[in-house]
Parts: sequence; C-alpha cells; structure tokens
Amino acid sequence: MKNKLVVVTGVPGVGGTTLTQKAMDVLKEEGINYKMVNFGTIMFEVAKSENLIEDRDQMRKLDPDTQKRIQKMAGRKISEMTADSPVIVDTHSTVKTPMGYLPGLPKWVLDELNPDIIVIVETTGDEILMRRIGDGSRNRDLESTGNIEEHQFMNRCAAMTYGVLTGATVKIIKNKDKLLEEGVEELLSILK
Ligand code: AMP
Ligand code: MG
Repeated sequence: MKNKLVVVTGVPGVGGTTLTQKAMDVLKEEGINYKMVNFGTIMFEVAKSENLIEDRDQMRKLDPDTQKRIQKMAGRKISEMTADSPVIVDTHSTVKTPMGYLPGLPKWVLDELNPDIIVIVETTGDEILMRRIGDGSRNRDLESTGNIEEHQFMNRCAAMTYGVLTGATVKIIKNKDKLLEEGVEELLSILK
C-alpha cells in the first residue's frame, strides 16, 4: 500500500513550518513516524550546488524556467522518500514571482507526489504582515495586506485545482495569533 502523503501550504510568514513542526513533535512522542520534507530546502540545495543563489529567498526571483527545472528535480527527490514512511511536504500552493504566480505543484510535480491531502494554512493579511515584519531570519516580501489576501485567494484556487487533478482533499486550517495550538490540533486530526 502507498504511504500517505500530506502537503502543507501557506503564504510566506503564515507559520506553516512552525505548525507542521509542532504537529511532528506530538506525533513522534506518540510513536507515529512521519518524515517531514521542506520542498524549498531541497530546491535550495540544488540551486546552491549550481551557484545560482546564496539565500533561499532569492529563489523565487530566478527566471521561471530555472525555478521549474529545479522544482521538477525536487519533486522527483521527494517522491523517492515516500517509499518507506508517510511524508509531510512543507511547501507553497503558489509562489509569488516577479513574473506572476508560479504554481507550486504543476502537473508534472503532482504526478510525482500523488498527494492524499493538501492543507492550506491561513490567517488574516494583517497578522501575516506583522509576522513578516517580525521575522528577522528571512528576507520576507513586505507587501500590502490586500496583496497578501490576493495571494491567499490564488493559493485556494490552485490548491483546489490540485485536488481536482489528483482526488486529494483540500483542508483549510487557521493559524491565528495566540491560537497556534488549535491549528496544531486540527492538523494532527488529519495526520493520525
Ligand atoms: P520556504 O522556506 O517554504 O519559504 O521556501 C523557500 C523558497 O523555496 C520559496 O520562496 C520558493 O522560492 C521555493 N519553493 C518552495 N516550494 C516550492 C514549490 N513547490 N515550487 C516552487 N518553488 C518552491
Ligand atoms: Mg515555511
């Protein structure tokens, strides 16, 4: 039987990685072993090895064809990891590039991953902007709350398309200020 593959998405700064990491910690304590893979990290390893960039936040500014080539390589690598355990992939439904919204899971990546569930982590544009301003560890794009909300809307559209193409369900999970634990519980309920 194929191992479960869950894709967790959300705009930069919404806290998708934090939420996923917290859920993973709980699962580990309970002896449930998921492998957590960050799609951006795998892409960044390839981009760095080709001397294309030095910072992971430069990746979305590369020309779209280069992004797609690296994205395809990452999709292949991740699909190879699903052989022996269930996997959670931390990634993005769309990536905001200077050339427009790049689909995070175009059909050739979906064919590799074959996800069961696509999670969208969301909160309000205001909360996301404040989190980006507060995150000194990353070069987050500072944009208007309206633009962040447009990005979230495009992410919902893209995620549902991925669902239609694969049969995966699409689950929206809120990660509101001071309510991280509620989001973690909701994520756990679909992982167990
Ligand atoms: P993150 O650490 O999740 O913000 O990811 C870092 C960078 O990796 C993003 O800004 C994108 O440039 C890239 N990335 C992550 N997932 C994908 C994907 N599915 N398709 C294309 N690029 C991606
Ligand atoms: Mg993240």
